[in-house]
This record gives sequence, C-alpha cells and structure tokens, in this order.
Amino acid sequence: MRLSKAYFKTYRDDPAEAVIPSHRLLVRAGFIRKSASGIYFYMQPGWRSIRKIEEIVRQEMDAKGAQEIRMSAIMPAELWQESGRWAAYGPELWRIKDRHERDFCLGPTHEEAVTWIAREDITSYKQMPINLYQIQNKYRDESRPRFGLLRSREFVMKDAYSFDVDSEALDKTYNLMYEAYSNVFTRCGLNFAPVEADTGSIGGKGSHEFTAFTEVGESDIVYCEKCRMAATQEKAECVDDPPQDDVEMLPLEKKETPGTTTIEAVADYLGLDKKQTIKALLFKRLDAETLEVTGYVAAFVRGDRECNMIKMVNALDIPEHCLEFADEAEMGPATGCVAGFTGPMGLHDCTIVVDSELVGMKNLCAGACEKDHHLVNMNYGRDYKGDIVTDIKSLEQGDQCPVCGHPVTETKGIEVGQIFKLRDKYSVAMGANFVDENMKSHPIQMGCYGIGVSRTMAAVVEQHYDDKGIVWPVSVAPYHVIITLIKAKDETQAALAEKIYDELQAAGVEVVLDDRDERPGVKFKDADLIGYPIRITVGKRAGEDIVEYKLRREENVDEITSGEAVTRAIELVKEEGDGRCFFR
Ligand code: ATP
Ligand code: MG
Repeated sequence: MRLSKAYFKTYRDDPAEAVIPSHRLLVRAGFIRKSASGIYFYMQPGWRSIRKIEEIVRQEMDAKGAQEIRMSAIMPAELWQESGRWAAYGPELWRIKDRHERDFCLGPTHEEAVTWIAREDITSYKQMPINLYQIQNKYRDESRPRFGLLRSREFVMKDAYSFDVDSEALDKTYNLMYEAYSNVFTRCGLNFAPVEADTGSIGGKGSHEFTAFTEVGESDIVYCEKCRMAATQEKAECVDDPPQDDVEMLPLEKKETPGTTTIEAVADYLGLDKKQTIKALLFKRLDAETLEVTGYVAAFVRGDRECNMIKMVNALDIPEHCLEFADEAEMGPATGCVAGFTGPMGLHDCTIVVDSELVGMKNLCAGACEKDHHLVNMNYGRDYKGDIVTDIKSLEQGDQCPVCGHPVTETKGIEVGQIFKLRDKYSVAMGANFVDENMKSHPIQMGCYGIGVSRTMAAVVEQHYDDKGIVWPVSVAPYHVIITLIKAKDETQAALAEKIYDELQAAGVEVVLDDRDERPGVKFKDADLIGYPIRITVGKRAGEDIVEYKLRREENVDEITSGEAVTRAIELVKEEGDGRCFFR
C-alpha cells in the first residue's frame, strides 16, 4: 500500500475519554473510530489486525475439527423465551421490534440459536461429536461501556458450541478447545493464563477464563506461586479460619458506640480486632424483567473480609443484574436496618446470608440495629441465624490457597476468552435430544467457547506498547514492514524504495510505502505510533544502495544494503508471521 494514495489518518491528541493505553493508541493510530458510546468503526489498519486474529482463531479451531457456520445476529424472541433468557438476561439484551411489532434481539451470544439448529438436525449418537463456530459481531447493551474495545456494546466474537453424547465425550471436546485457546493466545503474542472460572447456576468444575495479564484488566485473579492454582476471584474458594470450638460463649451485651459507623471505628472504639466484628452489606433484589424491587437481602461477613457480588448472586440463585446494593434509608423502614449499625439481630423481612466462616467464630461484635449501639459477644446459632449460609467472601492477597494453603497473590487481567461446559442446560430447556444405540433418548451434552476477537486486539496493545505508540507482534500487525522514503521527490531514493517495495511484495511480505510529501519527522512518528514491526528507511545513502533497517521493538538501527534489508525482513516474517515462534 502506498500511503500517498491510502485512506490514512493519525491523530496527535488523545481522545478525552480514553483512560487506558489500548483505547488511546488504537484511536490515535487510526485503527478504530467511535460512533456512539461503546460502538466503534474499524478503520483500515484496525480491520487488518482484526482479520489476522480471526485467521489465527480459524486455523486453530479448524485444526480441532470445529466447523465454521454463520448464524444471523438477529434472533426472534421466541427462541429466547424457550430457554427462559428473554426474561433472565435483563437490560443487557439488545431488544428490537420489526414493523409488525414482533420482538427480536441482537445476539449477545448464540446458545439458543445453535440449540435450535441441533435439535432439528442431530437425532442419533452417530452424528456426534460436532463443534460449530462462527465469527461475528455481538451486541450487549452494557451498563458501562468503557475502555474502548475492552468493553464495547458491539464487538467481534468467535463463539463455538459443541454437541456430545455424554460427559466423557464433552470432557474430550472441552480439552481440545482448551488447547486451541492456548494456541490462539500464544500466537497473538499474549502473556496469559487459563484460570478456573465461575459457572454460575450450572455449577460444577467446568469453566476456564483465559486471562491476559495487564494492570488495566477488569478481571480479578488470584493465583498460587507454589501449586499454580489460578482462579477468578468469584470462583476461588476461601479457606475459613478454623472454628473456635474451645472458646466459651459469653453473655450478649449491648454497648453504646456513638458515631462508629464503620468497622474500623467500632473496632477502635471497643478495642477489638477487626476479626472480632461482623460486617453488614445490604442489597435489593430486582425482578429480572421489570427491574422492580422484589425484596431485600442482608449479607454478613467477618469484619476483615470482603463480600463477593458473584458469590452472592450464586448463593441466591438469581441473575447478576437482579442484585444491587441498597440504600439504607430506603431499606430501613421495611427491614429494621439502621445506617452504620446494622447487624444480623433485629432484622425482619429480608433474606439473611451469612458467610460460612462466621458460624464457627465466637463472641463477635455487630450492629444492634439501633442508632449508636452495637452488640458484643454475638454467637451464631444462639443469637442469630442465616437463611443461607455459604462462602460469600473474596479470596484476597495473602489469604490461604484453597489447594495447598500457601499465601495467594492477587493480580489483574483481561478476560480474552472463556470455555464452558453447559452440559444439558439448553438441551433440556429446548428439547435437543438424541437416541443411543439402544434407541434410548438422552439430552445432548453441550459446551460453549467464546473468544473476544476485538477485545484480544486491545489486550495485545495493552501488553505491547511504549511511549511512542504500539509495538505489534509480527503475527497480528496490520502490515509487516514500512518503507520510509525520506524525500519522495528525490528520484534515486524513490527508485530504490519502489524496488524494495516490489521485492518484498513479491515475497508475500505485507508492506506499506510511505511516499507522502511529508517531513521525515512526521513519517517516523506515524510509523512508531502505528507500530509496524520493521522499518526500512530510504534516504541520503540511496545512491550507495544503503538503507536503514530498524525493528520497532529494538532501539538499534543498522545501515545495510537494500538486498540485505529485504532478506532480513523476509526471514523475520517467515519466522514470526504466523505467531508459532511464540511456542518455543
Ligand atoms: P465480561 O465478564 O468481561 O463481561 P463475559 O464473561 O460476559 O465477559 P462471555 O459471555 O464469556 O463474556 O463472552 C466471551 C468473550 O467475549 C469474553 O471472554 C470476552 O473476551 C468477550 N466479551 C464479552 N463482553 C465483551 C464486551 N462488552 N466488549 C468486548 N468483548 C467482550
Ligand atoms: Mg466470560
């Protein structure tokens, strides 16, 4: 591509709302352009990188026997009503109506659609295993679209769905997808790890998130350096402190604790350790469809712990969007809670969820549900009870690893993909059955597997940039080489640049020729911002056939003959072009 003729634009200033590097750099380098909140156009270089990632995904999916199809992004409401998700998905589902007022949605994911296909076509065990995938725009009306491509409302996803006869067969397919995903993210040049993930209402061990490690990620990951356990914070099981069986229960006592509305303040005031206190968290439950308040929930964890929202929705067995933090002023009259002084005794008309650890702890201090008062020596069983008792706390930095007991480390990452054993959730709900060799009918065992293609592009940038711009790995760069022609009007320089351009193109190298009538400084800046892996500069020494050869990821510049530069570029692209170099 010749830049003098290309549709090409870079920007000097960061977009005002961009707070993270990938958002800032992808906009400035002209890869993406925002049309509305969370909606982006992919401009020429951006679309090339997306297609590179897609191609890697295709190769790895095809290698595992998956087959590409293309479903419609528009789905009739009836399909979603069958699975129950028309109501349960909540406001994130992008609903539309046609001219006859019929309901449709723009697909956020395609379990319903693919189960509908399978139930028509798959009737016998002989037809499985089958794994169908597509690469397509997905739509989610996210409550807070942000961080550019990391959380957008329209995004490119690869989604795959597998059909197997039983859980062993599903395990095999799942493991193949685990390998395919590991290969994809390796070839994209990401530093990532598969981590055990939450399976929500489906439960069991059956999901991994592939997390690219970065400071800006929205996924909280805990891992153990000793035994390699890695899990999302909502999945990681916490180890309860051992029960204090040998401690005697003391008589319950009410204390005046003026103005102590935080755990710190009350612990300080009464001279207690935070571990001897109970923290209250208040929530309201919403109807899945109308979002009207249907009830209240109070959760209790030990004062030094944090309550985990996903563990809470799992404990209550409700969709994520149906639980919100509650305002005590609103909830007080209905339940008896008092701002800053809420405890598990004295509450009424709300579901009480107690963290499992509290059951074995003796003589704790909690709010008395009375202004400026706390109760001390509160004991589970004798003084209060939970409607639900389970692990609702977050595993945090320094806590014991649930596998080996070593202190865990907390880190952040971007979820670039997730694989999930759906088992028979959709096949039972939608009646997708097959017959075995004895003509007995069973629900099909399903799995689903997603990769955020556009999010992956942003994750690559988060891991590969410097103060000048993006530093693309060769495998997903929009082009491999830029030839920077210093003086476009100088005939010797132009002729040499054209020669290199032709030779590289003939060898299958993707090359851009910067033949614009611009100052060299402008050209260098653009090249660095866009992040082409190789730069060949044709300037003053063109008459001697000498050019500058520089890799974007390295500082040094080599002055070599044009032939040598072409050979080196071809070699590097051969070596790193498909990203398999990262396997070593
Ligand atoms: P998140 O927890 O980040 O909202 P999710 O778990 O809801 O994501 P999945 O349903 O597992 O997402 O979708 C598969 C993949 O699609 C994710 O792993 C992620 O890479 C990508 N993805 C999901 N939501 C978005 C979004 N709003 N913008 C860009 N990519 C997304
Ligand atoms: Mg996910």
